[in-house]
Parts: sequence; C-alpha cells; structure tokens
Amino acid sequence: MSERLKGNILVTGTNRGIGLELVKQLAEKTGEESHIYACCREPEGVRAEALRDLATQYPGKITIIKLDTSDEDSISGAVRAVSKQIGAAGLNLLINNAAINKPALPGSLAATGKKDMMEVYETNVAGPFLLVKMFLPLLQRAAERDTPEKDKGDKMSCRRSAIINISTLISSIEKCPETFHMAQMYPYRTSKAALNMLTRCQAEEFKTHNILVTSIHPGWVRTEMGGEEAPLTTQDSVVGMLSVMSSLSNKDSGMLLDWQGNMIPW
Ligand code: NDP
Repeated sequence: MSERLKGNILVTGTNRGIGLELVKQLAEKTGEESHIYACCREPEGVRAEALRDLATQYPGKITIIKLDTSDEDSISGAVRAVSKQIGAAGLNLLINNAAINKPALPGSLAATGKKDMMEVYETNVAGPFLLVKMFLPLLQRAAERDTPEKDKGDKMSCRRSAIINISTLISSIEKCPETFHMAQMYPYRTSKAALNMLTRCQAEEFKTHNILVTSIHPGWVRTEMGGEEAPLTTQDSVVGMLSVMSSLSNKDSGMLLDWQGNMIPW
C-alpha cells in the first residue's frame, strides 16, 4: 500500500472539470501539513465560483492563484505569488492539468487552421514548459530538503518532488491507428505528443535532481472537454490518478501511464 500524497502541491486549470476534482480530493486526502495552490485564469469570475466555495471549506489549506498558462507574464506573476507564501519546504508536486482542445470536434484536417495549431500548442505545451522552468527552483528546494523521503530506497516520488503532466491516450503515436477515427483532433493530439516529449526530456534532465516527471492519461472523463457520453466521472478518474501518483517511483519517471497505472506506449 503506497503512502498518501503530502506537501505543497500546485495544480493548474482548477476552476472546473478534472482540475477542480483534483483540488477537492487533495484537500480531503492530504494532512494538515499540506497546502494546495489551485491555479485558474479568473479567480474572481463566475466560472470560479465552485473553486472559491471549495477553498472556503478548507480555510488555510487552499490558496487560489491567478494563472493563465498561455501568458508568460501571468506565469511569472503566479510564481512570485507562490514563492512569497511557500517557505523553506519548496514545491513537492506540480500538476500540469490545464489544456484546451480546438477546433470543435472532430478537429478534422479540413476544419483546422494554423491559428488552432498555434493556440493549442501555446496552452498545452509552451505553458507547461514555462511553468516547470520557472518553478524549478522551488521543486529543487523540495527535492534537496532533508526529509525522511530522501533516505528511502527509491529517491523519486510525488511526496518528495515531482511534475505530473496530464496527457491523453490519443497522444500515443503507436495507438494512432486505433484512436484516429474516433477523434481526429489534429492540434490536440499533436500538442499532447509534444507534452510527452517534454515529460521525457525533463525526466532525463531532472533525474540528477531527484525530481520525478511522468505523464498520466486520466481516462475518458465526463467534463466540458470529455463530453457527456464519456464513461468516467471526474471523481473516479481522480481517485485512480491520485492512487497512481502516490505509488510512482524512479522507474516511472519519463513514462506515460493511465489513471489505473497501466503503461501506454509512446
Ligand atoms: P475541461 O475543458 O473541463 O477543463 C479545462 C481546464 O483548463 C479549465 O479549468 C480551464 O479553465 C483550464 N484552462 C484552459 N486553458 C487555460 C489557460 N490558458 N490557462 C489556465 N487554465 C486554462 O478539461 P478536463 O478537465 O476534461 O481536462 C483536464 C486535463 O485532462 C487536460 O489536460 C485534458 O487534456 C486532459 N484529458 C481529458 C480527457 C477527458 O476525457 N476529459 C481525456 C484525456 C485527457 P477556463 O474555465 O478558464 O477555461
């Protein structure tokens, strides 16, 4: 049985869908020493009402941070806000969850233009890239701390210092013949394949720092993005993903896994 997650945890895109459920379950399941930085584009807006309600249910445990992942200045502002509050412990877990899928389904070749390709890449790849680059000092601080985690056999874990990139089954190049006709989504699937490469590169670069980097597919989930016919609830997907995250170790860094822990081929 793996230990539960703990520490300072940051999640992007948390005002709805899977991100909101991640914050909810992390707030429920982590101990008092933990803190959740819940990022969203418009903390004061109507679309963040559910997140604000959640934060008031856990006073002192959830901080809402303004963050638009497609805007570099917004990322710098979020890093400054978190750095001011986080203290010596650093950042233990960064979950890159925010993403977009454009144009409207099925995202065929004919319906897709350059603007869609660029916008989706900006949010789904450049955003997570910059976030990790700018949060790296805080992740390193957590990785270097003198904690019991440090002395365990496997040096990497989501309790110590980790980046989770929320990816998708349809990013898999090997699985493309099976998935292409269900969902063409040119901008989305190519952006997530690029996100997987980011995972792999950063896993390689950060292994000397003991920072774990893994991509996780949440399943096909009933959200605005997943649609109403999706079989999984956000609750079940997040229960699965948090259980997978809590069991990750050295061997999983640089991999693409699904919400049940199965490996997905690149
Ligand atoms: P939703 O569309 O329901 O939610 C997306 C979230 O991302 C929203 O909170 C949205 O905020 C936020 N977001 C989008 N663009 C930005 C931005 N530029 N800056 C900050 N936040 C942004 O998606 P899901 O919850 O379904 O998806 C979550 C993750 O899971 C994504 O990475 C997605 O690719 C992945 N995924 C989902 C699947 C599914 O079946 N649902 C399947 C496979 C992967 P706002 O309200 O401001 O737009």
